[in-house]
Amino acid sequence: MTDMIRVENLRKNFGEFRALDGVDMHVPKGSIYGLAGPNGAGKTTLLRHIMGIYRQDEGKVLVEGKLVYEQPDVKNRMIFISDDLFYFQQADTMEMKRFYKGIYPGFDEKLFEKLKEVFQNIDTKRRIRKLSKGMQKQVSFWLGLCCSPGILILDEPVDGLDPVMRRQIWNLLLSERKKRGMTVLVSSHNLRELEEVCDYVGIMHQGRIRMERSLQELQGTVSKIQTAFEQGVPVLPETFQVLHMSNLGRVYTMIVKGDSGKAREELEKLHPLFVDVLPLTLEEIFIYEMGGADYGIQEILL
Ligand code: ADP
Ligand code: MG
Repeated sequence: MTDMIRVENLRKNFGEFRALDGVDMHVPKGSIYGLAGPNGAGKTTLLRHIMGIYRQDEGKVLVEGKLVYEQPDVKNRMIFISDDLFYFQQADTMEMKRFYKGIYPGFDEKLFEKLKEVFQNIDTKRRIRKLSKGMQKQVSFWLGLCCSPGILILDEPVDGLDPVMRRQIWNLLLSERKKRGMTVLVSSHNLRELEEVCDYVGIMHQGRIRMERSLQELQGTVSKIQTAFEQGVPVLPETFQVLHMSNLGRVYTMIVKGDSGKAREELEKLHPLFVDVLPLTLEEIFIYEMGGADYGIQEILL
């Protein structure tokens, strides 16, 4: 698959502080890519480089194969829904809509009307800066989505929103992506939030992407199995790679490498009392994939 966005060895210092320390990242065309990482990891800084707002000290940012800072034309393909919102101080939602419509020829008026129902709590005639922070966030998402960008970049889009609105935002992203095939890059300090919507996830920590995976590829890389035998655990075959094992009485919970079907098959041969395959969360998969390394994964997940 071709990369819509590719970042190579990106470095950025703010004075003495190294905010980006050699970022490599690949966002495939048409994917929803989740950028996860604790606060201060460098997510916003990275997204601002991808938008061509910041100039890197070193490295490359390519969008559709073009260097984004040096060839700013490609910026017209992207919409950035920023974490810190700024709007024309006096504008209301309808005025902002007209403004966006003037800039983005693909502005989807029908979608805007349709979404009035979703965002019915927003008074579109009220100055945006007088709306609550959560409402301002909704307005910027609403307008950004209607611009029909080829690439939509969202920085913590659901942070501070209530659970119902969060769900709405994720559902809209999924359905619009399906309809239009746009590429979505979305950051969150909460991995769990991204788990259900993303095709790819990158884990950022201290200015670097520590791991980048397609979720499809992750399925079947590790499995969680619960089993019990008459007595303890028999000797397991060598091919059976246990990453972690714990027990409560006779019941053993194991994290094993590879596909759960195969693991079950192997265990069945040893005459267990039962074998159950349990679902693994993305968090668990990452922790075991990283060998339990302390990359602040726990912090990401709260
Ligand atoms: P995240 O979005 O993952 O929470 P940020 O990209 O906002 O992280 O920040 C990463 C680090 O860079 C933080 O330690 C932050 O204080 C620092 N930083 C970000 N922007 C600036 C700036 N303009 N000047 C100085 N330091 C900055
Ligand atoms: Mg941020």
